[in-house]
Amino acid sequence: MLRLAVIGCPIAHSRSPQIHRAILESLNVEYQYEKSNVTEEDLPQFLEYAKSNLDGFNLTMPLKTDILPYLDGISEKAKFFESVNTVKVDKGKLYGFNTDAGGYIRALMNKGVNPENKRIVIIGAGGVVRTLAKELVSHNVKETVILNRTSKKAVDVAASVGSNEVKGMELTDENIIDCCRFADILINATPLGMEGCDCRFESLAFINELPKGAIVSDLIYAPPKTELLKTAEKAGYKVMNGFDMLIFQAILADEIYLDKKLDMKKIYTDVIKRV
Ligand code: NAP
Repeated sequence: MLRLAVIGCPIAHSRSPQIHRAILESLNVEYQYEKSNVTEEDLPQFLEYAKSNLDGFNLTMPLKTDILPYLDGISEKAKFFESVNTVKVDKGKLYGFNTDAGGYIRALMNKGVNPENKRIVIIGAGGVVRTLAKELVSHNVKETVILNRTSKKAVDVAASVGSNEVKGMELTDENIIDCCRFADILINATPLGMEGCDCRFESLAFINELPKGAIVSDLIYAPPKTELLKTAEKAGYKVMNGFDMLIFQAILADEIYLDKKLDMKKIYTDVIKRV
């Protein structure tokens, strides 16, 4: 029996149990998957519990960085990202991994889009962008521009990637319009347009600046189609919401828990029918 959990605060909204259930049932693996409200302060106590009672667990923000000092080992990628979303428990020791950005790339590939040699524009410079920008560079994208409300954060995140092809700048109407003219892939990594968030893009005029054939992706999955995606789709662009990223990062995490390569495409097709 594989004993798993997802932890965070708040955690009630998490769809991880539903997705892991669908994956593990499609693989005929016996499992239990708990959802636990764990704050930064509760983390040491939870980890003691996990060492004797779990085989692994997933984490949401801000625990993805809070977990770092408690790990006995960390994958090269998670170390590079300074962010862990998957912990495997092995003989009472904790090993950290990150499957978020890998999940995004798999989702993109699943839509028939290979990021290699593409020009990327990312709106937002939070935790997920730190990992995404680094992962995209390792997939040989041509250039990445990070636009953020707080420009210093965009510049800092871009600098943390350590590539001349990644730039950070302030999110202004003018900058986003200029950047979109050359973008092959536009990614929204802010909560703008998210269910329950009282914030939205003031103008979506930048969509019309994108070249033909560009893809617009939103990391948000509730609602399934944000105003950004609806507008982009109406204008004839390919669109992708954040749900496939969530599914693929979960499949990658289950590969780690089960310690075996999984047939991504087959499981994805199975899971999408069940969730
Ligand atoms: P985060 O660390 O909290 O960063 C949020 C980002 O959004 C910051 O850059 C912030 O700008 C910007 N922002 C927030 N409110 C804004 C507003 N009103 N106007 C303009 N910019 C605003 O979040 P995160 O972990 O990076 O996640 C970002 C998004 O990705 C969230 O919507 C999250 O739900 C989604 N996500 C999806 C998945 C998935 O599997 N699909 C996985 C992870 C995250 P400032 O720096 O100026 O504050």
